[in-house]
Amino acid sequence: MTSRRRFIALLPLPLLGAASLARAQAMPVDPKDPQAAALGYTPDATKTDKAKYPKYAPPQACGNCALYQGAAGSTSGPCPIYAGKVVQAKGWCSAYTKKA
Ligand code: SF4
Repeated sequence: MTSRRRFIALLPLPLLGAASLARAQAMPVDPKDPQAAALGYTPDATKTDKAKYPKYAPPQACGNCALYQGAAGSTSGPCPIYAGKVVQAKGWCSAYTKKA
């Protein structure tokens, strides 16, 4: 096998790996998704509609919510309310529950 053929034969493996990784990464919650809209999810808690959600008070955010499943210090992570997607650590929704 020439070196050129060997190069071409090995090329798809890294590309397949990158494609698999991209597929494995969860998409961020879209505030316009029906579930997110119903719960007032915003990726930036400071933008919460305080008139509509008077329960919100700083420093409430996904990152200090009991339901947040991201690693400590992460910028985003899973939340069981939005299965298969990730929320922003600085986000917020009306299902917020203070972490004990
Ligand atoms: Fe964020 Fe908690 Fe609402 Fe999930 S339940 S989106 S972690 S505030």
